[in-house]
Amino acid sequence: MTTTDCHAADIDACLETLESSAGGLESAEAAARLETHGPNRLPQPPRQNVVLRFLAHFHNILIYVLIGSAVITMAMQHFVDMAVILAVVIANAVIGFIQEGRAEKAMESIRGMLAPHAAVLRDGERKSIPAEELVPGDIVLLEAGDKVPADLRLIRASGLQIQEAILTGESVPSDKSTAPVAQDAALGDRSSMAYSGTMVTAGQGRGLVVSTGAATEIGRISSLLATVEVLTTPLVRQMNVFAKWLTLLILLIAAVLLAFGYFVEHYEFTEMFMAVVGLSVAAIPEGLPAVLTITLAVGVQAMARRNAIVRRLPAIETLGSVSVICTDKTGTLTRNEMMVASVAVTGHFFSFDGSGYDPEGSVWLADNRVNGRDHLHLAELARAAASCNDASLHSREGFWTVEGDPMEGALLALAGKVGVDVRRELSARTRTDQIPFDSRHKFMATLHHDHPGHADIFVKGAPEQVLAMCAEQRGASGNGEALDEAYWTETADNMAVQGQRVLAIATREVEREQTAVGFADVEGGLVLVGLVGLIDPPRTESIEAVAECRRAGIRVKMITGDHAGTAAAIGRLIGLENPDDVLTGRQLDEMDDAELAAAVSSVDIFARTTPEHKLRLVMALQSKGITVAMTGDGVNDAPALKRADAGIAMGRKGSEAAKEAAELVLADDNFASIVAAVREGRTVYDNIKKVISWTLPTNAGEAITIVVALLFGMTLPITPVQILWVNLITAITLGMALAFEPTEENTMRRPPRPRDEPLLTGQMAWQIVLVSGLFFAGVFGIYAYAIDRGHSIELARTMALNTLVVMEIAYLFFIRNIYGTSLTWQAVKGTRFVWGTVVTVTAAQFAMTYLGPLQRIFATEAVPFFDGVLVVGIGVLLFAIIEVEKQLRLSIAGRARAHNDGKQDQTD
Ligand code: ADP
Ligand code: MG
Repeated sequence: MTTTDCHAADIDACLETLESSAGGLESAEAAARLETHGPNRLPQPPRQNVVLRFLAHFHNILIYVLIGSAVITMAMQHFVDMAVILAVVIANAVIGFIQEGRAEKAMESIRGMLAPHAAVLRDGERKSIPAEELVPGDIVLLEAGDKVPADLRLIRASGLQIQEAILTGESVPSDKSTAPVAQDAALGDRSSMAYSGTMVTAGQGRGLVVSTGAATEIGRISSLLATVEVLTTPLVRQMNVFAKWLTLLILLIAAVLLAFGYFVEHYEFTEMFMAVVGLSVAAIPEGLPAVLTITLAVGVQAMARRNAIVRRLPAIETLGSVSVICTDKTGTLTRNEMMVASVAVTGHFFSFDGSGYDPEGSVWLADNRVNGRDHLHLAELARAAASCNDASLHSREGFWTVEGDPMEGALLALAGKVGVDVRRELSARTRTDQIPFDSRHKFMATLHHDHPGHADIFVKGAPEQVLAMCAEQRGASGNGEALDEAYWTETADNMAVQGQRVLAIATREVEREQTAVGFADVEGGLVLVGLVGLIDPPRTESIEAVAECRRAGIRVKMITGDHAGTAAAIGRLIGLENPDDVLTGRQLDEMDDAELAAAVSSVDIFARTTPEHKLRLVMALQSKGITVAMTGDGVNDAPALKRADAGIAMGRKGSEAAKEAAELVLADDNFASIVAAVREGRTVYDNIKKVISWTLPTNAGEAITIVVALLFGMTLPITPVQILWVNLITAITLGMALAFEPTEENTMRRPPRPRDEPLLTGQMAWQIVLVSGLFFAGVFGIYAYAIDRGHSIELARTMALNTLVVMEIAYLFFIRNIYGTSLTWQAVKGTRFVWGTVVTVTAAQFAMTYLGPLQRIFATEAVPFFDGVLVVGIGVLLFAIIEVEKQLRLSIAGRARAHNDGKQDQTD
């Protein structure tokens, strides 16, 4: 047989064909196969040739207009003008090309960080490896939430269901089993196979890799799926549309002016034509789309550096307006470094010490150190906890780490401290079947058979859940006795109040013939062995991050599957606003949507919840107009993540299903990274706003200057070639510097931006009017002054031109701090980019003003020292005027806010 027949063959034949075994491959063999088969990766779509990609940047109306003008100027033998126009054209294409490269790099780094992993058996052990390293013959372990990493022949399946919509279009998950199917079964009917790219929605399983990479079913159709995401967000898209219409409008105005100048004012055509070209270039924000994309790319990279990986770019904008963050507790707010602190069995209460997952440590009974093996109940509990367990511990140079769930790792360490040899214990009994843990039913059960023929079920899970399934407890004699439910509930509550996560362990012996475990086998009739209390300290950085959120007007809510007592204790430790009211899942179920919406604002802790509750909570918050970020990790969290304004999946413990549903993935599962992402989100939004606020008024100022001169038949204070030069130099440098602006100091002290706040606010419109007016006044003012002093037209123009550039620089420094004052040391110090561009622009201006050859090209003259000082002085004056205007506005707004707050305090 061949590997393509595996679906129809039995398991042993498949293992044989692929020269593998149920225990997986040896590492050396896997490495050799990786050489022959290549990485398990879908072929990348071929990249367009560099030259073609560069040329693509010439495809744009503005560039066509400019090329057209270059041709006309050449025909008119204005070679200098032609050269400058062509330089502008090329500079634009180069910026576009560079920005594309940056954007691509940003997206690539994201893809790299999101590369999926697969759990495999190698050298007989469970290991997590990058899915790219899978080879035919590997044995892959599957569980709910995984994305199938290669085409697999299933060799084990319990309750396994897979959603295969991407291959078959069928959105209802199909049941999977290990039995061979007919040779000619259609893809959707091959229940013995799991195909690469499909999603496990329930159950567990194991599969033998039959094909990888391009040889998989998805690989064959991958060319249809290769979509490249473009670096854009709704706001940037809106701006691009706006820029396009603005371009058209300006071209129209230019055409009208050309006609007006030629027919009414009777200017010479050549002169008029050049003026109109200068006007178009000055007014059209040609650099804007490129700079906005760079701003986004810089933001995406900054977030990735802070461990927040943006999967859907619009999230960058949404993050900035988030006002409630709903977060998991375990592993996000806490470290997820679990350690068993206490165990309660009938009649005894033990405590433990030790460090991390090290299975060495002491057992204490009251104040006495004891040997764990002397206490039969404790040993039984440890054995059950180690058996009903999917994790494994590894030691590297004496440092112990967990592969799998940290809580289960802690239970293995417990077993070690009690003196139970976990390896021997596990090899003495085979696990025949299991019910995997699910946050909906909150327990896990396993069925084991030992060699003498006993069969036992072990169960561990949330105490309320497990207690409800128990009829008896392990009595002092070792036999079962009546369950004292009240006692155990009280004990569990006491452990929880100390912030411990509590697990109950139960067991039951069954008939040796039984080989499967279902819900009916565990519901009722279990014998409770004891309770385990685990500590999981809060991350120190979550405490700081929660405080930062409060300053930034963001409310943090904890949504956990854990016990109410544990949740409240942790909530208090990390400083939630209201840690005293806890709503449990059961209470939520009793509320209708209106009641929930009323309660959801003031309550910060939701305990014993299921993923379905998360969805209801998101909807309740959204019904109050709140922008919600929600974290999640399991398959069942996907709907809530999709629904939330910013869905955030955990990169480490999160399932692939959650990651695919989320907008953002946290590489380190850390709450502090969410807050860092919010800060970056606000920064990017601010920078987009800064780029726009800088570009529009400067362009408008230049344009008005030309239009007014043309309309009133005055000499142009700046020649068309000079305008082209200013645009060439400033477009490449000044505007771009704003894309790299760091976070403003008070960014996380402002309340979140209302979601419907328009970008072009009245304030921005006012600023455009004010600043373009000042630019106009500055240019005409200095020009008039120079003429009045008897300077030549050339010198007057040179001064006007330099004034324009100086004002642009001054305005840049103003824009850098739209929310605060620009006159702090931090603000003046600026960034490398700002000073780099200022130095470049200044050098360029000196060159064109004082160097002979450039003077001839641009018709400039050396500016005398005193006039130079005056030019710089005008820049300073402009800065002073707009800065004072801003301070006035800010203090009025501040006073209004204080006034409103005061009013609110009175009504509260
Ligand atoms: P959290 O929000 O803290 O991650 P979970 O939904 O993961 O909550 O867990 C809820 C409860 O289920 C826990 O308090 C614990 O009692 C129980 N539990 C968690 N993980 C397991 C597991 N692997 N096996 C058995 N029970 C578990
Ligand atoms: Mg959990």
